[in-house]
Amino acid sequence: MRLIPSSRRWPLAALAAALLSLSTALPAEVDFQYQMPAIDPETASGYEEKPGWATERFAVAAANPLATDAGYQVLKAGGSAIDAAVAVQMVLTLVEPQSSGIGGGAFLMHHDGEAVVAYGGRETAPSAVDETLFLDEAGEPLDFMEAVASGRSVGVPGTVRMLERAHREHGRLPWAELFTPAIRLAEEGFAVSPRLHASLVDAERLRNDPLAGAFYYTDAGEALPVGHTLKNPALAVILRDIAEHGSSALHTGAIAEDLAFRVQNHPSRPGALSVEDLASYAAIVRDPLCTEWHVYRVCGFPPPSSGHLTIMQILGILDRLPALESPLADGQPSAEWLHRFLEAARLAFADRGKYIADPDFVEAPGGDWATLLDPDYLARRAELVGEESLGSGGAEPGNPGALATAWAVQPTQPESGTSHISIIDEHGNALAMTTTIEQAFGSRIMADGGTGLPGGYLLNNELTDFSFLPEDEAGNPIANRVEAGKRPRSSMSPTLVFDRDSGELVASLGSPGGAAIIHYTAKTLIAMLDWGLDAQQAINLPHAVTLGGPVFLESDGFSAETRETLSARGHEISERELVSGLQALQVTDDGLFGGADPRREGVVMGE
Ligand code: GLU
Repeated sequence: MRLIPSSRRWPLAALAAALLSLSTALPAEVDFQYQMPAIDPETASGYEEKPGWATERFAVAAANPLATDAGYQVLKAGGSAIDAAVAVQMVLTLVEPQSSGIGGGAFLMHHDGEAVVAYGGRETAPSAVDETLFLDEAGEPLDFMEAVASGRSVGVPGTVRMLERAHREHGRLPWAELFTPAIRLAEEGFAVSPRLHASLVDAERLRNDPLAGAFYYTDAGEALPVGHTLKNPALAVILRDIAEHGSSALHTGAIAEDLAFRVQNHPSRPGALSVEDLASYAAIVRDPLCTEWHVYRVCGFPPPSSGHLTIMQILGILDRLPALESPLADGQPSAEWLHRFLEAARLAFADRGKYIADPDFVEAPGGDWATLLDPDYLARRAELVGEESLGSGGAEPGNPGALATAWAVQPTQPESGTSHISIIDEHGNALAMTTTIEQAFGSRIMADGGTGLPGGYLLNNELTDFSFLPEDEAGNPIANRVEAGKRPRSSMSPTLVFDRDSGELVASLGSPGGAAIIHYTAKTLIAMLDWGLDAQQAINLPHAVTLGGPVFLESDGFSAETRETLSARGHEISERELVSGLQALQVTDDGLFGGADPRREGVVMGE
């Protein structure tokens, strides 16, 4: 495995890219007329078989049928992958408000046929906070959910600034037109989906927010029912403003003032986010991490995401174990393969907990993140995988390079509530974008842009992705502690895969799921590319997750024999729902093939 310096570009390719960006900067000739679709809400089932979708020229996969459809209509009108992503994200803000939106952050991997670029829209900590943000008056960590549902958890949002930047570089349709689907749906109403309804039922603390409580619940306190036609006039006004004036409509002026006001005036624990923090936010373009793996080149997001490094550590450790005759038994991952996968995950998560944080604040071990994927280092880590599990807490971080600081290991904290989008257009562009407000409904603070109209959008709680504790008991600092202007560590893993020799695109994929995003994405990569399953079959496989402690197996996913074998080998196992939201598109001999997670409402559309 080798990290390829992603800044490597060929002069001709750069010329072609420059010509392309010149042509895309021209006024669009394409006429985009959004048609309101008649999409019935799906059944309330938590698991819905998906067929897998074959298309010829373009495809879009997103977590909600209305959002996918908006992206599809943009692609059909001749829009680029980025154009479609803007339309999808704006519709998701409206119809999947529990997962992502203009109040949150995102990571976007983009390929224009030549270069891969990583656009970072991760939230930042306000300038007035420090490492005591999540400590109480006695210096003890706050209760996790208390911290989440408060003003303190809200980071400066980055999704809109990030999309705007990517659209400037790769858009074909005018920015404003891409907001038409979300504005129409917000003004004319959309049917509340089963997943939104179920999320509302579960969201106890959301009811306490005056705007959200009045908007998403009946006077009797019931969550709006499935199929209810919901209009969001406040969001329509906000989206019109962003359509017309760009991200500055969100980051400055009345909408920004309202956002900062809501954070600073939270009734229990106000936050420090200010209008200056909003105005100074900039999306960051980073070099992606691209790693050679078998006949592929796998490109993912660099720190502050831990996604790519941890996934590739797992894959790299597995590769250094003796070959398995068959990793599958009766179509499911075998007990032996699962044991190895879980041990590799334990080792990779031990390193993740110690080393990975915002690179603007924290030096990579040995001065380079590539040390974590060094072949000799991974071989040494693989030697720690034996017949018996290392067990809960048994995997220690390694020492991949000379360290400037002795980081302490961050204790595990829960994360959840995100959305993944994969798009391939007919102009040679592909993207993978994972987008989040962190928990379901983020900080449970709704903002209406100061419009005074019903509705609005949710503010993220991304700052709880920082370590609550700044140091361990011995006083060693934790790499991912809170610092002003810093971006919290993420697990989001938007991934683009290429053929190593030809450089041709092979797949785009990613998932929500908190830290388990890493397991979901790693297994899907292996299943698609190593085991030869198609995207849908790969997504359907049952999940197994460990962050280093107990093992969670997807309920009813594995046989009793597999569970017993894993227990006998020292894994502390239990079963639970593991709600991934994988979307994957793959390039096939006939065109494209897409899969969407049966555990959520996602669909693929294309032609
Ligand atoms: N906030 C998490 C992260 O950035 C994602 C949460 C989720 O996927 O559920 O890693």
